[in-house]
Amino acid sequence: MSNAKHLLPNVPKYFKTNLHTHSTITDGKYSPEELKALYKEKGYQVLCVSDHNVVVDHSALNDEEFLMLTGGEFGISEPGQDAFYKKSYHLNILAKKPDNLWQPFLPKKPRESALPYLALVETPDMARRYDPESINEIIALCNEHGYLVTYNHPAWSLQNYTDYAPLKGLWAMEICNYNCLYAGRDTYSSLPYRDMLALGNRIFPVGADDMHTIRTHAGAWIMVGAEKLTYDSVIQALEKGDFYASTGPEIHSLTVEGTTLKVTCSDARSIALESDCRFAKQLYPVHTHGLMREATFDLTKWMESSQERGLTEEAYIRLTVYGPYGHRAYTRAYYLSELL
Ligand SMILES: [Zn+2]
Ligand SMILES: [Zn+2]
Repeated sequence: MSNAKHLLPNVPKYFKTNLHTHSTITDGKYSPEELKALYKEKGYQVLCVSDHNVVVDHSALNDEEFLMLTGGEFGISEPGQDAFYKKSYHLNILAKKPDNLWQPFLPKKPRESALPYLALVETPDMARRYDPESINEIIALCNEHGYLVTYNHPAWSLQNYTDYAPLKGLWAMEICNYNCLYAGRDTYSSLPYRDMLALGNRIFPVGADDMHTIRTHAGAWIMVGAEKLTYDSVIQALEKGDFYASTGPEIHSLTVEGTTLKVTCSDARSIALESDCRFAKQLYPVHTHGLMREATFDLTKWMESSQERGLTEEAYIRLTVYGPYGHRAYTRAYYLSELL
């Protein structure tokens, strides 16, 4: 019998999930009902309609095959008028309970369609400052009030290392935002993700649509390995990091046995392993123009070196699966202590 340890949970079904979408409540083209239908059509089971600066409970739309998560996207921009040059912090906040309507602040210019929802919340408005300290206060408040906080689309936000490095208390960051990809702003935020890991943040990579129109529909998602399609079960899996991000490839299993890491997946052009240090490897198909569906990595050197240095809580590995059409799937970082 195999003693392989499953790094991605061995559950009957992974739920296709989009955590970032806008509806007619703010600046999206489709109503929450229409969004549910559109996502269902594309094989999704979980959706968070995360409108701008408003948290809305859409659980009335739930059915046996589809779960709506409660959340919103909160943004603070640099002062000044010219939107072309203003940096912004955008955070998605995801409620751990569907009826949690607390929100960190109210929109400055609420859209009329958002007003009925805002009337439901008793939020003391707060002074908003565009600086990391102020953003960290907001993240801390969100955590206290039962939210998982994601740092969104550094590329759209015109942000770089100096802007995101000071952030603390994040649950995840967008490694791919389909709205950014579609607009040609950037490829993937894999370097910012690596930076955040290197700074000691145990955060997860998320792929999300940031859908406003049909053009940014179903291009980036996460696959969640939850036991059941219930709010609690999905949130539990998200909190544990039992998911991977993708713009195409599927990861079917990820296991470790001793010093051997094995991944199985849909057709891939290559599979790459990165770590906290210089240890890295990219594996290719046997035939130059072929495709591969599994890869095995020998972790002996990295494990030994990390253990010698006492880095079991800091040393990590993570994988990227490169699909045949330029799409990618990303795992989270797995720490040595989880692999032993
Ligand atoms: Zn945004
Ligand atoms: Zn957005």
